[in-house]
Amino acid sequence: MVASKIAGKMLIEGKIHCLTGLHIGGNQDVSEIGGVDLLVIRDAVSREPYIPGSSLKGKLRSLLERHHFAKGTLEFNKKMIVGGQNISHHECGENKCVICRLFGASRSKDGSTKENLPASLYVRDAYLTEESRDKLSQLESAYYLSEVKFENTLDRITCAANPRQIERVPRGTEFHFQMVYNLWQPENFQYFEEDIKELFAALRLLNDDYLGGHGSRGYGHVEIKGLTLKWRGLSYYTGEGKEEKEEPVELTGDVNQLIDKIFQHGTGGTLGEDK
Ligand SMILES: [Zn+2]
Repeated sequence: MVASKIAGKMLIEGKIHCLTGLHIGGNQDVSEIGGVDLLVIRDAVSREPYIPGSSLKGKLRSLLERHHFAKGTLEFNKKMIVGGQNISHHECGENKCVICRLFGASRSKDGSTKENLPASLYVRDAYLTEESRDKLSQLESAYYLSEVKFENTLDRITCAANPRQIERVPRGTEFHFQMVYNLWQPENFQYFEEDIKELFAALRLLNDDYLGGHGSRGYGHVEIKGLTLKWRGLSYYTGEGKEEKEEPVELTGDVNQLIDKIFQHGTGGTLGEDK
């Protein structure tokens, strides 16, 4: 094992644009009688709806896992119990595995994952953009910066209706997101391009999937917009260099060309730099 050292960080930023209403569930304990059945998660201080980094990271991981499973390059070797349900997923803990390298793995009691593998990707919580906050504050809604949608489920025999109210962030809303990709081990230099390509693939998959709940009923259709990449080499953190910025970045762009462009000036520290 080579001692860890941070060679640099790639900051991946952009906006999550909601093309349809978004529901990411929050604490239902505060739901009053006669109120909304399913509330959205809100920041404890500002009370504004937000997208938890864990939700976004979990979605990107599951999309990539399913993508690799479909290609035959990954197996669902683990089960975990979440909310009483058995969830199949992948976790091998091998550094050569792109899923575990990006999203991490935890040592398991049964010995099938021998070591903890820290995630090289950090996904921050995504908050409303200022424009969206302004727009939503003008909404005529009983709930702060959100809308309430009525859903109905019909009993197939009696035709009795089972109405529910679901709170969601209205379409058109935008959140600012940031992910930090850490290139911290020399042995991972060889994986740099692959990791960035896989991340782009995950974001493309997300555009054609959904975020949050009730996706098959039209909720959570999002589009990643205004993507930028910034490279911060070691010298950036010691105050001797500056970050390299490349924008805008297209999700469909050539990742190799993009990486070449980012490093062409060299002032932000080159790949594998070790000062
Ligand atoms: Zn793995």
